[in-house]
Amino acid sequence: MSDVELDVVVVGAGFAGLSAARALGRGGKKTIVLEARDRVGGRVYTTKPAEVPWVDLGGQWVGPTQDKILALLREQGARTFKTWTTGQNLLLVSGKKSRYRGTIPRLPIVSLLNVGYAQFLLDRLAKTVPLDAPWKAARAKEWDARTFDDWLRVHVRTDTARHLLDAALETVFAAPAREMSLLHVLFYIHSGKNLGMLLGTDGAAQAERVQGGMQPVAEKLAEGIDVRLSSPVRRIEDEGDHCRVSFDGGELTTRHVIVAAPPKLVSEIEFSPLLPEARRRLVTKMPMGAVIKHTAIYDRPFWRDDGLSGMVVSDEGPIHVAFDNSPPNVAGGGPPCGMLMGFCESDAARAMGKLDADGRKKAALSNLARFYGPRAHDVIGYHDHVWENDPWSGGCYGAFMPPGIWTELGPSLRKPCGRVHWAGTETATVWSGYIDGALSSGERAAAEVLVGCPSIVTR
Ligand SMILES: Cc1cc2nc3c(=O)[nH]c(=O)nc-3n(C[C@H](O)[C@H](O)[C@H](O)COP(=O)(O)OP(=O)(O)OC[C@H]3O[C@@H](n4cnc5c(N)ncnc54)[C@H](O)[C@@H]3O)c2cc1C
Repeated sequence: MSDVELDVVVVGAGFAGLSAARALGRGGKKTIVLEARDRVGGRVYTTKPAEVPWVDLGGQWVGPTQDKILALLREQGARTFKTWTTGQNLLLVSGKKSRYRGTIPRLPIVSLLNVGYAQFLLDRLAKTVPLDAPWKAARAKEWDARTFDDWLRVHVRTDTARHLLDAALETVFAAPAREMSLLHVLFYIHSGKNLGMLLGTDGAAQAERVQGGMQPVAEKLAEGIDVRLSSPVRRIEDEGDHCRVSFDGGELTTRHVIVAAPPKLVSEIEFSPLLPEARRRLVTKMPMGAVIKHTAIYDRPFWRDDGLSGMVVSDEGPIHVAFDNSPPNVAGGGPPCGMLMGFCESDAARAMGKLDADGRKKAALSNLARFYGPRAHDVIGYHDHVWENDPWSGGCYGAFMPPGIWTELGPSLRKPCGRVHWAGTETATVWSGYIDGALSSGERAAAEVLVGCPSIVTR
């Protein structure tokens, strides 16, 4: 042990890895973070093109009860601003376009009641799923044997209600209902409190954004942490009393490793000895969702002149949900430019991801023109990112559990394997899949090391 260089090597400099490293540093542990990309932030990715102050191509919103990220923003003195919701929202369902204010769209009464009933039922069932052990829910086996699609088919009886729910829920899960376990959906809803919280803007998950973008928050968090960029980890050997971590460019010896990468990418790291069978299988059976976040930039937010908020829910696609994502107003006037952001998700994102950049731009702008009129073609800039094709994410927003996985393999999600510990938003209990969950997962993994590490215990 005498020539072991480090207390901890953290794999991945997303919010999970960085929060683990910060907690370890505060606990006096000598830590290095190895990051595959040439930047920190992972699924949070901010670009600064010439025509606008910033564009968030990945995670951007924060909302109430996301206590970890809200505390970090306060600590950093970051400025946040409310998501623009002033004006009428658009709804395109079953070929009809309508406008509405607030949260309740104009639908035939039967469909409206059906949507409300489905939401009520999902929230009620979700509350019974234990966040730290979904497999212990009283009806875990039954719910994990079913797909979410199967549940929707039984409980959502009108086409309009189903189309609306599919469009809205895709924004939350980025995966088709036919691929997800009902138990997973219920866990995820409970993890973010309830469906209204996951879907909403004011007072909910999409409430606020960070001025300047979210990646600078990760960059600030990384200050003072020894992060080695462009250092993908290829192999982790647990030698019993220490670990050897091999990455492009070198090798480190360390007492502990915290792996803070998405499950799919964990499956690409070679472990010696092999990880326990359940952990090994788990990471190969947690697929990622698929998302493309399209950002169209205009000289001004022209849709506001027409009384529109910019918010759209549509069952047509490829973009199913859109927002006014303009920067905040400048002193004494409106925003310096107008930005519309549309999410293309799940099957539509998988198809759109096959197009080249020009094809994606054309498809996205045509779709926005269907929402906001031909003026939507007159962009001064356009940006997107195909997360599914990004080798260091492999999809987004996060991984999900198909039927059978929570109950069979769930107990191995956070269980350390020898000296190797697990972080990442997918391992979080609260706000799993979100930046907030990433932060808490990193702190939890760091606490495991700090409490379990003999040097700390004897200190
Ligand atoms: C389009 C989009 C929109 C989103 N919107 C929101 C939102 O508005 N609000 C919100 O809260 N969340 C949002 N999310 C989700 C949020 O971004 C993620 O939950 C969160 O960033 C995950 O953090 P993480 O640290 O767990 O994982 P990651 O950010 O994925 O970090 C893992 C890191 O590990 C690195 N890595 C992987 N393999 C290796 C290896 N072998 N060696 C070294 N490094 C490796 C990766 O490069 C990456 O940097 C969004 C995500 C996307 C893609």
